[in-house]
Amino acid sequence: MKKKMITIDGSEGEGGGQMVRNSCALSLVTGEPFRISNIRARRSKPGLMRQHVTAVEAACVISGSECSGLAVGSSELEFRPGRVTAGEYRCAVGTAGSTGLVLQTVLMPLVLADGPSRLILEGGTHNMLAPPFDFIERTFLPVINRMGPHVSARIVLHGFYPRGGGRIEVDIIPAPLAPIDCIERGEPLGVAGQAVYTGLPVEIAERMLARVQRDLGAWPEDAFSVRELPADQGPGIILMLEARYANVNEVVSGFGQLGVPAERLAKTCAARMNGYIEASAFAGPYLADQLVLPFALAGGGSLSTVKPSQHMLTAIDIARRFTRRRIELTRQGGGEHFLTVG
Ligand code: AMP
Repeated sequence: MKKKMITIDGSEGEGGGQMVRNSCALSLVTGEPFRISNIRARRSKPGLMRQHVTAVEAACVISGSECSGLAVGSSELEFRPGRVTAGEYRCAVGTAGSTGLVLQTVLMPLVLADGPSRLILEGGTHNMLAPPFDFIERTFLPVINRMGPHVSARIVLHGFYPRGGGRIEVDIIPAPLAPIDCIERGEPLGVAGQAVYTGLPVEIAERMLARVQRDLGAWPEDAFSVRELPADQGPGIILMLEARYANVNEVVSGFGQLGVPAERLAKTCAARMNGYIEASAFAGPYLADQLVLPFALAGGGSLSTVKPSQHMLTAIDIARRFTRRRIELTRQGGGEHFLTVG
């Protein structure tokens, strides 16, 4: 008997690609088919973009799922999940589409699969509006690993917009996801700021660092560094600020953009890092929206976060529909919010 489809209006809530990616991941784990319409309807280029298509293709490849409407520009998709098979998969996101967003789609299904997997993902590794590799490796995966699985990621080549050409490799040793509590950051362990660049004058990286150094006045001078990558991985530049605590690492990034002065980018990045340090919640806004999926699949756990983003609220809405679990967000004093599942 055919299962009833979950129907999603892709223009509701945050209305972005994350709704498509999270729906695929949840569908693969729960076995619930879905149809999503009005995909990215309110975006300047509505419908699926290349990187969304690749993410859904990857979900199909690891599972033999059936999907209709899968094309660049398509605004409606129907997905009937197959059975996830562990294995080695290679996936090339055309242009500089984000490898991190493809990983977001297939990681949880593979973490819950019946054997180890290896993913080789090619494309962009440090793209705007997507988790950069360093955030995945140092902020996101340590939390996933605390839940039971063992996931390790390596960057082989950096890929910046628009050239792409990056490569990351991810090894996954599956395990059931255990509910965990992510409330306290724990002891502060250190801070670091790095400008990683290639194919551009070093002076741009130095200007960025000079500005963040000024705005992060309490950080020691030796916390800052510049790293030049081989020329064939560029051009591109990214500024990454990291605050390490016993239980969590926050990586805040500023992506170099043509026409945006280095100082402006550095100023925004430093302000975001200062905002995180001054708050006491465990998760910054990006980690919070990305942990909704694994927490919902674990069926329990709690998380404190700063003010929830629209991405997070939408991720909760989608996760509730597939898992039918109680996922609550409550506001505490001081602007902190608590996510509880169970
Ligand atoms: P969407 O806009 O729907 O394609 O979703 C973007 C995803 O990328 C969300 O899960 C965000 O949390 C994540 N993201 C965007 N920018 C960053 C960043 N600078 N660091 C970490 N994650 C990010």
